[in-house]
Amino acid sequence: MPQLESQIKLKSLLKNYFSNLNGPIAWCTSAGPAEILRALGFQVYFPENHGALLGASRTAQRYIPKAHQFGYHSDVCSYLTADIGAWLMGETPLTKAYGLPAIPKPDLIVFNTNQCREVADWFSYFGREFDCPVLGVYPPRHLEKVTKADIEHVSQQFQNLIDLGEKIIGKTMDMDQLKHVLDLSKTGTQLWQNVLETARQHPAPLTFFDSCILMAPIVILRGTSECVDFYNQLLVELKSRLKTGFAAVPNEKVRIYWEGMPIWGRLRSLSDLFAENGAAVVSSTYCNSWIFDDFNSRNPIDSMASAYTKIFINRGENAKLALVKKQLTDFAVDGVIFHDSKTCFNNTNSRFGLPQRVRDEMGIDTLAIDGDLNDLRFFSDGQSKTKIETFIEQLKEKKPLLL
Ligand code: SF4
Repeated sequence: MPQLESQIKLKSLLKNYFSNLNGPIAWCTSAGPAEILRALGFQVYFPENHGALLGASRTAQRYIPKAHQFGYHSDVCSYLTADIGAWLMGETPLTKAYGLPAIPKPDLIVFNTNQCREVADWFSYFGREFDCPVLGVYPPRHLEKVTKADIEHVSQQFQNLIDLGEKIIGKTMDMDQLKHVLDLSKTGTQLWQNVLETARQHPAPLTFFDSCILMAPIVILRGTSECVDFYNQLLVELKSRLKTGFAAVPNEKVRIYWEGMPIWGRLRSLSDLFAENGAAVVSSTYCNSWIFDDFNSRNPIDSMASAYTKIFINRGENAKLALVKKQLTDFAVDGVIFHDSKTCFNNTNSRFGLPQRVRDEMGIDTLAIDGDLNDLRFFSDGQSKTKIETFIEQLKEKKPLLL
């Protein structure tokens, strides 16, 4: 597929971001309250992004065994094991890519267990390594409905974060600044949603595999004007693709939803495999996870508490099913691929009966493939190729009149 201008721009945007990570620095989970940290005056660094870089650069394989030797089980999140392993070996892909001698040293470490407990162990490890304050936000988990009491519980913890951050920074947080940052986050997340929704068109102008790369700014630059500018430009490009009927997958025949984590070390080969078979992966739970509808600068703390507690991974089984069903309808999906990610059961819904419920309630075919976000020992290229190609053929056979 011809490259978008935005894909080229992304490289310089990331270089600029990493080159400017000069203190004070806060580490934060990917769906943590980054807006509060920015408003306090921290530069924000995201270890999960580093974990994904280790996977995408396929260096994770070198580092994961080191963390296993250190005491982390092979079933434990391979972002964690790749990241800690790289640290123990004194290496980072940021050196080759951006000239950073090491990952940025934190002045404050913040995690939110809205996604999993693994982040608590992971971030606390680095708190000990750097002798750095660590603050955990512990929301109620796996909610069907998010209540006022749930939001108040999280808001209070965000207030504790503000108190601690103010002590470290040495000044009071400016509420107007928080509102400004949150407005930028809200605009950024709306633009990101608009970008993803371009794939509702037939044929889709971009796929899940493109979005996995293009999502970097909404994760690491959320709450900045750079993020907003990036998605504005990307949207202009995609809209022009929509006008010309540009197809990310030439001769798109079937449309697929990806449920679960990406397989970072196989993005390119999977993208090629689906394209060769006329299948466009048009939507995913993963990329949708950075759409935060509830952000509202008129009520910044509570609205952030609500948005970050409502993320897909933190929802009950009925809420998850409803969210997936909406995506399948909106994007006119023919089949769902569930990635059973060995080291992230938190984001692996194929183990909890979701495929059966999707099939029963929507009559849409599903396939589960074994793999992992970073640890490629759990992914078989040959077996997966056969399973995916067979699945796509089945989907094609089901809609012969449309082909
Ligand atoms: S959600 Fe999964 S991949 Fe992400 S940090 Fe937790 S265990 Fe790791």
